[in-house]
Amino acid sequence: MAKRVFSGFRPTGRQHIGNYLGAVQNFIALQEEYDCVYCIVDLHALTTLESTEILQQDIHEMVLDWLAAGIDPQKSIIFVQSHVPQVEELHTMLSMVTPLSWLLRVPTFKEKVKKQPQNVNYGLVGYPVLMTADIALYKGEIVPVGEDQLPHLELAREIVRRFNSLYGFVFPEPQAKLTLFPSVIGLDGVQKMSKSYNNQIEIAASPEEILERVKTAFTDPARKRRSDPGHPEECNVFRLHKFFTPARVEEISSECIHAGIGCVDCKKILAQSISSTLEPFRERRAVLASKPDYINEVLDDGTRRAEAIAKETIKEVKEKMGLLRRVNSE
Ligand code: SF4
Repeated sequence: MAKRVFSGFRPTGRQHIGNYLGAVQNFIALQEEYDCVYCIVDLHALTTLESTEILQQDIHEMVLDWLAAGIDPQKSIIFVQSHVPQVEELHTMLSMVTPLSWLLRVPTFKEKVKKQPQNVNYGLVGYPVLMTADIALYKGEIVPVGEDQLPHLELAREIVRRFNSLYGFVFPEPQAKLTLFPSVIGLDGVQKMSKSYNNQIEIAASPEEILERVKTAFTDPARKRRSDPGHPEECNVFRLHKFFTPARVEEISSECIHAGIGCVDCKKILAQSISSTLEPFRERRAVLASKPDYINEVLDDGTRRAEAIAKETIKEVKEKMGLLRRVNSE
């Protein structure tokens, strides 16, 4: 049997090229080799969301992008975290085997406390336990992560190890599968591409929108005038060319260094490359979007398949923990 991959993704709405290159294309590749479970972690999102007004719309748009990009609901289970409530049960049970000191030392908890001092909710400190419950409920063996997420996965491994040693083996220790793709820098040339920094290019953007966004990209600060020689390796537009215009990278580099091309024209080439790369995606997305119930059908089917696994795991956990009523044999 193929090993099981589990990955959780916050409902961030329309996906951008950073999401696509860093995560979604990896999800697509993994489903050829593994039994994949892809979960939209809406409960996790509640730890930082100030409003849930557009939550359902964000889930819908994200799943639409995933499917249009090539995640196959016949091969992979795609579902929303809160639709399988067994995760909340397992979260409670795992919280009983997790020392509070382990959670208080997590760097992202400390960062969140600084970032949102007005909303230091219990969910923030319990986040790694809920994340462990997500993986463990589906007996995830492999978790695709970026290097920055390795400490979280290590904590998940510690929690399941502790559970297994206290109550007997139930959960495999999840292994990290490092995403080889470097994180994509946004149009500001500084921060990781993210909707929250408004430095993204959505994969569903039209050619006109892509051009407008690319025009705003920061370039090599040394190129103040058209005649100034450039330093492509210090320019984020050039980094994006490496993903989207690989056949012309040498030429663009040389032209930039010798001031043979201006940034305006260089950006036009990039916008054109991104646009043509994403054209088949936009076409598939339009077809899927024309079927109003399709996304809900995919999520309902994913929920059914995920819940079947979750019920088995919870039964096993309760047996090990001595929570099931004793059957009187007399
Ligand atoms: S010519 Fe292109 S690679 Fe060179 S600095 Fe301008 S945008 Fe960047």
